[in-house]
Amino acid sequence: MDSSAIAPPAAPARTPNVTDYDTARAAFSWDEARDALDGLPGGGLNICHEAVDRHAHGTRREHTAIRWLGRRSSRRDISYGELAELTSRFASVLDDLGVGREERVFALAGRIPELYVAALGTLKRGAVFCPLFSAFGPEPIAQRLELGDARVLVTTPRLYTRKVAALRERLPGLRHVLVACRPGEAPPEGTRDLAELLAMADPQRPVEPTRPEDWALLHFTSGTTGRPKGAQHAHEAVVVHHASGRMALDLHPEDVYWCTADPGWVTGTSYGIIAPLCSGATMLVDEAEFDAERWYGILADERVNVWYTAPTALRMLMRIGAEPLAGHDLGALRFIASVGEPLNPEVVVWTDQLYHRPAHDNWWQTETGGIMIANLACREIRPGSMGLALPGIDAAVVDRARDGTVRVIDEPGVEGELALRAGWPSMFRGYLDQPELYARAFAHGWYLTGDLVRRDADGFFWFVGRRDDVIKTAGHLIGPFEVESVLMEHEAVAEAGVFGIPDEVAGQIVKAQVCLNPGVAWTPELQRELLGFARSRLGPAVAPRHIGVIDDLPKTRSGKIMRRLLRARDLGLPEGDVSTLENGTP
Ligand code: AMP
Repeated sequence: MDSSAIAPPAAPARTPNVTDYDTARAAFSWDEARDALDGLPGGGLNICHEAVDRHAHGTRREHTAIRWLGRRSSRRDISYGELAELTSRFASVLDDLGVGREERVFALAGRIPELYVAALGTLKRGAVFCPLFSAFGPEPIAQRLELGDARVLVTTPRLYTRKVAALRERLPGLRHVLVACRPGEAPPEGTRDLAELLAMADPQRPVEPTRPEDWALLHFTSGTTGRPKGAQHAHEAVVVHHASGRMALDLHPEDVYWCTADPGWVTGTSYGIIAPLCSGATMLVDEAEFDAERWYGILADERVNVWYTAPTALRMLMRIGAEPLAGHDLGALRFIASVGEPLNPEVVVWTDQLYHRPAHDNWWQTETGGIMIANLACREIRPGSMGLALPGIDAAVVDRARDGTVRVIDEPGVEGELALRAGWPSMFRGYLDQPELYARAFAHGWYLTGDLVRRDADGFFWFVGRRDDVIKTAGHLIGPFEVESVLMEHEAVAEAGVFGIPDEVAGQIVKAQVCLNPGVAWTPELQRELLGFARSRLGPAVAPRHIGVIDDLPKTRSGKIMRRLLRARDLGLPEGDVSTLENGTP
């Protein structure tokens, strides 16, 4: 073993689900993974049944499914039995509203219990669940509701009033807005009180007999150009959620599990709702935002066994230092995993030193629906590596030529694009209304991920970067085009180019360069105004943190903004290949 590798514990607190990687890989079959679930009579499959009803009808009825910790001191435990009834009620509300199978139910809310009930109840109904990030501004919200043809939106009175009310005219298909009111709060005009509807609904509404291929989830993701892409997932994805939860997160039914990802993004759904419940564990939901003292308190007091978090959060904890940990006993914590952006080796080493458990990086993306590559509990960690392809997943490094041919690179250590052999159960089934884009994501039986990686001689994958210009900031994927479009709506701006610049904590932050309209002068006031304009339209999660001015945007001869060049110039880096630059050499 390499000297920098971190060995798995010689005497683990609990025997991992996978004790030997090679054996598990050789023995693995998706049919067996399917058999580990219940299924529905006649070959049906439904995510909510596997996550909730299966346990509620069995011996785990009284077991706590969700432990919700309110922003202040409130808390609520929801058993599997209660969750089965609540989700039936939500499904029955959808019936009463005339929402049919595969119609879209969106959620825009913080981490409140109603969000989890809505997600699972939608799946129970056989409708499609689509989460939105509550820190989105009105523009990304409107665009996604429009593209997804939202029929129902579940939100809160505050978010509705601030972000959605003014958009209603743009959204004629959005028939019902259901709001989760706090005590004493009234539903705003144009919305209905969710609690009232739930109280009148049927707590025994059975699971819709969905088929494995039926559409279940819609997750928007971003590309370099064009509108957000709606990745469609089928109920069959639950096979991967369950299997990868066991293999990559080492989830056991007795575990208390905490995923800190927001349910507005894919991790917060696949692993912040579905996977832990499928395994019968207790999942924690913390309504509050990041706070080191609070987080250590939760890890210690709630006796968290498995913690799934993100590099940005770990870097923030590392920066704050060990002090807030004092007095908190993390003795119950058995396994730490991290996802979403590169996890720097120093953070892995630091987690190992401070918590006596290293963070296990893993890799996946919206399109893959579940974890594909992971550092496993039974194997050493090579800090900086994303780990090994999970059993059942065939991953390769490939070279994609301009003519579309794909060549698998067998030599270790050579950089190329990460490709996955198509056909795993949680593979996305389409980009909503963009079949050509979907077709272009595959070649010769491989799904091409857009990520550049290297694989070492032992099969460990190492992240290198993205092939395209998307920006990962604090784990959130941002499409530059979406930001540029909004900036160009400002009367002072003629054109905008958006790219990511390195940031010690968030990995990258969003920066824009704008060209001004003739006669407009660049002043600190205009800069402030543009920052505020972008923030109010896009929300703090998406808006640029820096905006600069430039005379001309570098473009290819076909008119595409060369964001890489903008970024290189901004950072004073080598400019690379500029042969396609429209206005010749700079
Ligand atoms: P999303 O679809 O928003 O989940 O973003 C997926 C992208 O995040 C991937 O294509 C990668 O570029 C990046 N990503 C996810 N996990 C990792 C990881 N462990 N290391 C580096 N990048 C990652």
